[in-house]
Amino acid sequence: MQKFDVVVVGSGPGGYVAAIKCAQLGLNTAIVEREKLGGVCLNVGCIPSKAMITAAHWLDKVEHGFPEMVIEVSKPKIDFKKMVAWKQSVCDKMSGGVNQLLKGNKVTIFNGTAEFVSPTQIEVQSSKGKEQLETKYMILALGSRPIQIPGFEFDEKNIVSSTGALDLDAIPKRMVTIGGGYIGLEISSYMKKLGTEVTILEAADSLLAGVADPDCSQVVARKLKKSGVKVIHQAKAKSQKKTGSEYEVTYELNGKTETLKADKILVTVGRRPNGDQPTLKKLGIQIDERGFVKVDAQRRTNVKNIFAIGDLCGQPMLAHKASHEGVMVAEIIKGAPRAFDAKTIPAVVFTDPEIASAGMLESEAIAKGYKNLKIAKFPFGANGRAVSMMETDGFVKMIASENDVLLGVHIVGPEASNLISEAVLAIEMGARLQDLALSIHPHPTLGETMMEAAEATLGHAIHIIQKPLHTPAPQPAATK
Ligand code: FAD
Repeated sequence: MQKFDVVVVGSGPGGYVAAIKCAQLGLNTAIVEREKLGGVCLNVGCIPSKAMITAAHWLDKVEHGFPEMVIEVSKPKIDFKKMVAWKQSVCDKMSGGVNQLLKGNKVTIFNGTAEFVSPTQIEVQSSKGKEQLETKYMILALGSRPIQIPGFEFDEKNIVSSTGALDLDAIPKRMVTIGGGYIGLEISSYMKKLGTEVTILEAADSLLAGVADPDCSQVVARKLKKSGVKVIHQAKAKSQKKTGSEYEVTYELNGKTETLKADKILVTVGRRPNGDQPTLKKLGIQIDERGFVKVDAQRRTNVKNIFAIGDLCGQPMLAHKASHEGVMVAEIIKGAPRAFDAKTIPAVVFTDPEIASAGMLESEAIAKGYKNLKIAKFPFGANGRAVSMMETDGFVKMIASENDVLLGVHIVGPEASNLISEAVLAIEMGARLQDLALSIHPHPTLGETMMEAAEATLGHAIHIIQKPLHTPAPQPAATK
């Protein structure tokens, strides 16, 4: 029996960050991982998808952006197998980095599957056999997996989840994507740039419904359409049939049955938490009907020495939420009086253009009782850096209370993923529009759109024509 202060199970961005923090705080810590270090995020999620998106982005630039900039290059060639191998090398580098960080912080790593024995005991099963661990605290960071739908069971070769889609061995001619959520859109967008004919079947009326600001989603929907991606709304995928080397996908649309042909079927209808592992029951922790482990604001379960973080304990299923919880739980175990009280968890959709948001949607602000909201947009088309980059689709939209407190920022456009962090800081600090508008932003940068969006929401942006203000102009200082 090996004894620890803390055993972390799962090494995704929740688990590995929690383990490092525990070790930094002087706790004797172990981590158990049954697959590769880094979890879904580093191996089959955030990182590989962004690697493929980046490769497809540059290909698209070479094909469409360079000619307009009068840079002549010969027609680019893709060696897809090598591209996927490069993507894998990025993931391996990241996973190797986690290994080094864990070892450097003296975290004991167990490569195997954790079976839960009691609230203080875990058995690790691996090729080496069984190892018994005893611990004062347990942090469960078991993550999530893709949801399967009946009739579309994954073989990860032809009927694929995001995991299989990120590891294809050739560019498919035609792909049907079931589900227009962020993962489906990200993969569909890059596959289209690589040359695949993509059709998205989406049950809702719009893309990213309830996830992103509707104005932002529309910009992406328009660009997808322009790029040739076909989106069929209110479509319910029913079944598939293999005929020769291709698949016939049957779906229902307005009460009618329709069919589509495809070489690959990508199913991205959401993710399910891994709270249904049989031995978890031995811990006596409460798990809801969807598989989420129930936790309080400290991410503590109903069993005092057991915590759950990341995708396992609830929405939003995002890496940075998991990591934030990991640090917090480590500090709580060490005795800090902390609880999850973030004002906002930003979210990014890495489509073309990107969508990023922090804080409330307009509908949420109204539901919370805010009246006379101040809302305005500043377009990237009016920003010099965006024009010089030929990336003018989109805008920064700000939502503020009637007394100018910033409530929400929704960006669709170039580098939205990087721009949103300023909004997160502003919202966390309770900033008013004036705080952003009066902060000098360097020129020429995309970041100026944040300052100008704040000015636009106050009614007086410089680089767009706005209706005249009805507020009194500043008065000159009084003289004797
Ligand atoms: P995970 O990363 O899921 O890790 C859990 C780990 O626990 C796994 O490695 C698993 O093997 C291990 N495990 C489970 N049970 C056991 C056991 N009994 N014994 C041992 N080990 C076990 N999020 C973002 O924020 N930004 C993005 O851009 C983004 N893009 C994504 C793209 C895709 C295609 C996908 C699929 C996801 C994406 N996500 C993104 C979501 C992100 O990956 C997850 O929110 C994040 O990985 C959750 O971290 P976690 O620590 O909770 O668990």
